[in-house]
Amino acid sequence: MLSFIRSDLSDLKAYTPHPETAMEGVSATPIRRDRLDTNESPYDLPAELKQKLGWTYEQLIETNRYPDGTHQGLREAIAEYVNESAGPNAGAIAPSQLSVGNGSDELIRSILIATCLNGQGSILVADPTFSMYAILAQTLGIEAIAVGRHEENFAIDVDAAQQALETQKNPPIRVIFVVHPNSPTANALTPAEIDWLRAIPDNILVVVDEAYFEFSQTTLVGELNRHPNWAILRTFSKAFRLAAMRVGYAIAHPDLIAALEKIRLPYNLPSFSQAAAELAMQQRSHLLASIPETLAERDRLYQALSNLSGLTVWPSSANFIYLRGDRQTPPDLARLAAELKTRGTLVRYTCNGLRVTVGTPSENQRTLENFQRLLGASS
Ligand SMILES: *Cc1c(COP(=O)(O)O)cnc(C)c1O
Repeated sequence: MLSFIRSDLSDLKAYTPHPETAMEGVSATPIRRDRLDTNESPYDLPAELKQKLGWTYEQLIETNRYPDGTHQGLREAIAEYVNESAGPNAGAIAPSQLSVGNGSDELIRSILIATCLNGQGSILVADPTFSMYAILAQTLGIEAIAVGRHEENFAIDVDAAQQALETQKNPPIRVIFVVHPNSPTANALTPAEIDWLRAIPDNILVVVDEAYFEFSQTTLVGELNRHPNWAILRTFSKAFRLAAMRVGYAIAHPDLIAALEKIRLPYNLPSFSQAAAELAMQQRSHLLASIPETLAERDRLYQALSNLSGLTVWPSSANFIYLRGDRQTPPDLARLAAELKTRGTLVRYTCNGLRVTVGTPSENQRTLENFQRLLGASS
């Protein structure tokens, strides 16, 4: 280890989006890979929108000039979209309540810097959940306290969480991260969990990550203006088909947004990414038209996987399905993931379970057939 590098980084591994499984190389690599391990939309931008974006690139973007560091146009477009979903009693979200990041990952890091750095706070998460909160916290020397979830529906163990809030002192918990609906377990927040969040005192920030909002159609944005200690995160990486462009946004009190704006790099978002996200906002009804198909396919996949022996499958409010082995005859799911991979189906093995992204109808069909063959053969 080079002696000038922080010693606490030596335990950290770089994030690998597609961890290699033990079976890698056992059989020939299949030609087709159904990438159902990262929860993106299965659909690329439609060709005519790519063409429009290409035109914007050719005609309007001067590559020798820095991008718009204020993101003004994009923030206005996002504000309009967010307000459509906020409900009548919400009070409008203004562009000054939005900060745009290089993916919502950047915003998570900015939130950690703005709240917890320099020994001023730790964070609370409920596992299993999105791993980036704890990973980014660790890179900044911030402690992540993890509580559990109830296995029947993966609701947060609120008693344990409350206990952690009361006992954690040096430094105290400054931020609670929840995902609505959660990844990898696909459950939306319950009314009881939301009540608990409403009662969190003002000196603790509640971050509600709504990365899958377009699939769940359930949001807390309508309550945001009543809770200055809430922030909502959204992304263009999932339903809007722009994972390659790296655009996410935070919706929050203007003072928190001002703090995030101080922390971010001045030109965090390339002009091309801003143009792509603005196009997605203009064309939102076109892009979101694929959602009903994804939800119908999710329900079909859920039914079919539930019928397989040896698995417990949880209902989903998102575009992915979580399952584990049942108690009596659990299959070896790490091995199953590896075998699925050799058959061209990539799924995510995590926290003793599998997370399967809903793909196109033909991808889902192949997924089911592979599950059926492998579990049929091994049970
Ligand atoms: C996919 C995902 C994101 C998106 O992150 P980006 O950096 O915007 O791509 C954020 N939060 C959760 C829970 C996710 O699953």
